[in-house]
Order: sequence, then structure tokens, then C-alpha cells
Amino acid sequence: MAYLIPPEQLGSLLDGHPTYRSNQLREWLYEHPVLDAADMMNLPLDVRTKLGTSLWPFTVDAEQVGDAGKTRKWLFRGDKDAAIEAVLMGYPKRVTLCLSSQAGCAMGCTFCATGQFGFERQLEAGEIVAQVAYAQAHLQTYPLPDSPNRISNIVFMGMGEPLANYSNVREALRRMIDVMHIGARHITVSTVGIVPGIRKLADEPWQVGLALSLHAADDELRETLVPINRRYPIGDLIDACAYYFEKKGRRVSLEWTMMEGTNDTPEQAAKLADIARELRAHVNVINLNPTPLGPDRPSDMLTVEDFIADLRSRGVAATFRETRGQDIDAACGQLRALRFGDVPAELTIQSITKTQ
Ligand code: SF4
Repeated sequence: MAYLIPPEQLGSLLDGHPTYRSNQLREWLYEHPVLDAADMMNLPLDVRTKLGTSLWPFTVDAEQVGDAGKTRKWLFRGDKDAAIEAVLMGYPKRVTLCLSSQAGCAMGCTFCATGQFGFERQLEAGEIVAQVAYAQAHLQTYPLPDSPNRISNIVFMGMGEPLANYSNVREALRRMIDVMHIGARHITVSTVGIVPGIRKLADEPWQVGLALSLHAADDELRETLVPINRRYPIGDLIDACAYYFEKKGRRVSLEWTMMEGTNDTPEQAAKLADIARELRAHVNVINLNPTPLGPDRPSDMLTVEDFIADLRSRGVAATFRETRGQDIDAACGQLRALRFGDVPAELTIQSITKTQ
């Protein structure tokens, strides 16, 4: 399990070999990852053979391809069968990987497939960073159409609440930035609002971006969608995000998932605009990728357009983000739900989107 060992301690896998072999191995794992250890050509055969069966800390349980090849999704299984999802999305000038920080999630957001199935376990730093390495190695071998062949952006928006697994996420960030040489400004950590974690991240030395999954602009509504809001209400979140801005000089972005009749009203737009102006934040609006067991449905596109226009008329920068992978189970937790059989076949996401 080479990725479960800190990159500075890889010598423990190389008994009897000179120390420069650790540097070579570290470069293969983090700078030029390959799918198969047999391709680490400058390492001796016995090392490659030993690594061959233990390179990745997970197995690939499922792979899906959507959006005419531009979106690729994996369901990995780690130790104790932990489900780990990662989604690779290609654009003309960048490639973004959305990764998981926990297997499952304890936050229980009502609109999220992961939240509906509960918490399995924390992911280790090596399991988080291995998602990047695996996706990069895959991309190198199987490029996405009309996109660069290098991962340029990473978002912690897959399964799990990153700031509820702080020490492992911190170590994964360190490896991505210091060992993989991915620019901190190209990494975004997304949170539903763990206030102490936001403040801790603000005090770290890296300029990583912070995205706050807000989804409701008053405590009354937010508590019904995001239960952790009872512990960390919106006022505390605004203070923590302002602290982040002060420490990093980087604006926090606000994520807003549109749900029909729930948070797509002019009243919510007005309150959201007040928060966004106070934080000088950009608002990213996406439409709900509906989950099999959740009650909410996406807003119609006219409502989405009106909502964004309303925000803009109130002086807020707002962008609509296309939802990738609607032809596959690309929203957080959906592929896991399908593969692990928690969801009746007639309720899988494909059948729901087909009947809409
Ligand atoms: S939206 Fe994020 S924090 Fe909420 S349940 Fe899903 S994975 Fe967890």
C-alpha cells in the first residue's frame, strides 16, 4: 500500500536498496503516476514485483463514462469495503478532479445521496491523495477528448465533509501541494460549514480556495436541509468565512444547489445576496442532481435563470455551473448507492432522470 506510507518514509518499502531508490519511487507515485507498477521502469524488478499487488490502497469497483467521454467516474473500494467515489471532468483548458474525503458522510444533508446512507469511516491521507494519482495515471493512458492530459484543478466535493476529517485532509493537501506540485490556488476545499475547521484551514500556510455549501440563506430553512446548521448557524459561518478571507486574501465562494419550491424563491435570493455582498463572495448556482431517496427535485431552468438574474441585479457575481454526469450516477454518493444495492433498481438515478 505505497500511498498509505508518507512519501518521506518510502524507504521502508525498499529494504536492501540504496536511498536514491526512495526518491525514484516517490517520483513515480506522486509526479508521474502509472496504473501498473511494472511500468516504473527505472526501479529494480523485485521492487516492481513487490509493489505490483499493493500499489493502490483500493480496488476499482466500477467505472462510468458520461458527457460524450468528458466525464469519468470511479467507485473504488478501500479497506473494509469502504466506498470511495471520484469524478474526473475535462474542459477545453483544464481537467478537474472531484474527490472524496470520507467513505460516506455523517452530515445527513437531505438532498445528498451520500448523506442519506450515513458514515462508513474516515479516509486516510493516502487514500485521498491516491484518488488524484490514480486519476492522473488513468488520464495519461486514456486522455479525455479535447482536454489537457494533466489534472489542473482539485475540488473536495465528493463524498464526505473534508473538515470533519481534518488531519487526513491536511496531510493529503500537503502531499498534493509539496510533493505532487499542484498549485494550492487550484485546490478547493468545500464544506457545509464546520466553523472550527474553516478557521483552522485559514491558519494553514496554503492559499487553497474555500467553498461554502450554503444552499439556504436563513437558519430556519437551512436547518431543514443541512442539519449541522443547528450547531454552526449562518451568523457563525459568515464570521468564519470573513476570517478566511482576511487570512488568505481569497474570496470564499458560496455554493447553491437549486431545489424546486424550497430555496429557489425571490426571498431566498434577496437574503443570499445580502450574505454574498457582506463576504464579497461569488455564488455558484447548480441545479439539483436528484437522489433516489431524497424529497427534492431540481428547479426548472426559467426559475434558475430568474434566480441568477435577481442575484446579479443586487450586485452579486453569480454563475450557473452545468451539472456534469447526469447521464451517469455522478452526483456525490449516487454510484455507491447503486452498486451497493441500497436502492431498489426502479429508484436508481437513471430511471428517475429518464422519467422526468
Ligand atoms: S452534501 Fe456533503 S456534507 Fe452534506 S451529506 Fe453530502 S457529502 Fe456530506
